[in-house]
Amino acid sequence: MSKPKNPKRIDLSLYPKMIEKLNESFFIINDIGDIYYCSDSDFQQNDSIKSLFSKKDWKRLEKIIENESGYNKKAIEFEVEIQKNNQSIWHLCKFACLDDCEKDGLYLVVLENINKRILREESLMKAKENAEAQEKIKSSFLANMSHEIRTPMNSIIGFSDLIERTNDEEEKKQYLEIIKSSGQFLLNIINDIIDISKIEAGLLDIKVQRVKINDLIKELSDIYSSDPRINDEVEIITNMPLQNGDSVILTDSTRIRQVLSNLLDNAVKFTSKGKIEIGYELVEKKANQKIPHLRFFVKDSGIGIPKPDLKLIFDRYHQVREGDESKGSGLGLTIVDALVKKLGGGMKVKSEVGKGSEFSFEIAYLQRAQKKPKSYISDNVHDAPELKGRHILIAEDVDANYRFVAAIMRQTHAKLSWAKNGKEAVDFMLNNKNIDLVLMDLRMPIMDGYKAANHIKTLYPKIPIIALTAFAVDGDMEKALEAGCDDYLSKPIDISDFYSKLNFYLNT
Ligand code: ADP
Repeated sequence: MSKPKNPKRIDLSLYPKMIEKLNESFFIINDIGDIYYCSDSDFQQNDSIKSLFSKKDWKRLEKIIENESGYNKKAIEFEVEIQKNNQSIWHLCKFACLDDCEKDGLYLVVLENINKRILREESLMKAKENAEAQEKIKSSFLANMSHEIRTPMNSIIGFSDLIERTNDEEEKKQYLEIIKSSGQFLLNIINDIIDISKIEAGLLDIKVQRVKINDLIKELSDIYSSDPRINDEVEIITNMPLQNGDSVILTDSTRIRQVLSNLLDNAVKFTSKGKIEIGYELVEKKANQKIPHLRFFVKDSGIGIPKPDLKLIFDRYHQVREGDESKGSGLGLTIVDALVKKLGGGMKVKSEVGKGSEFSFEIAYLQRAQKKPKSYISDNVHDAPELKGRHILIAEDVDANYRFVAAIMRQTHAKLSWAKNGKEAVDFMLNNKNIDLVLMDLRMPIMDGYKAANHIKTLYPKIPIIALTAFAVDGDMEKALEAGCDDYLSKPIDISDFYSKLNFYLNT
């Protein structure tokens, strides 16, 4: 081991105040790392600086000592991880010769703690990578969306054009079917986009009602059993252990239906053989639960999901097989997950590639004494009611919407009048005393439907007003009822629901 020529000459402990102020750790070492002086009490028990460095970093320092000796050389800096109090902390290591260190020299090593800076840089780097990944996902979502929206739009426009050019009734019927299903497909995408925006804005509301889950599951299984995507080799089976009378729970009927049909839709998409099972089971009450729970599930024997994707499928825009047969927006499971959380549960998934998947969630089995709903009771009328001699005012600013309502009203033989905004509707009511019912669009220029309904209800409290609301905008419905409407219909109008309501207000 080399000995310092004259350690006193470079004893930095003679300048303690200066060293303290600098807030860095100073070492004086020889060429093999023995510490002659150390300013930092945390390191004072170390005899050699070598133990502070990783093997790789010490090798680097050794090389520097070997090659860069000579006090007229420039100081050298490099970043190292130093072991301090059993922690690995980033330091900037500055190295300089104290002598003309051709041999037996002494060296100054200064360690500056740069851990905060490095961690900040690392987190900035991570944030940047995340942002880039999100950006990539967003762009592929936009490309995918644009494709998903254009495809049905092109069908609608293309087949409408073909209908105009053909006189063959059979052909027209086929084209109409395509237009209808493309329209439905488009509507599903728009609903998904609205739902995801509501989730992001924290506006997703839950309306608790009595839901007959046996009926719901049976209905969904019937709908999907006749889905054209299901082939003969796939069977949909149901599992409903509760008696019909016990299968009434308090939850949001629209949202639980949306969750289950979304899961069924995926199961149908990804299963070409075997069975799809939809159902629920009563789960044992856990120690921390006051009420029993029901576990709903949709199980399939389809293609399954690779393990690494299981963590990601509930993430927005994530699709396991980009651009393959899995037509969709990658929003379905994100919405399902958010809805299930709102219903008080949490989504779970089990899956094995080639064997199948099971999606499930638990919600409280909440029941209440059966009460009849006070408001409108659906009497399941499907045909157009006879309304000859009745006069209905339709307040609607969009030409196509008015014509659609007029077309479905034709069979009722009712007399129709058209107001193109809320003000026209109020004026019309003032000048015509024989109106039996008002269909009121809510979003109209000059005077909106809420104001118009309010005026009309004040003038003629007995005349029923049915609001026509844009689909999925729940707040609209409540506001419409507060404004004086008796009921609402959401667009696109369900024809049988529409007839049913007209019958209720005008024939019963
Ligand atoms: P999308 O709306 O595109 O269908 P989802 O959010 O519903 O998207 O699903 C995300 C991905 O999860 C799908 O692209 C699909 O690859 C995978 N997935 C969902 N359900 C199933 C299932 N039952 N079997 C196999 N893969 C599934």
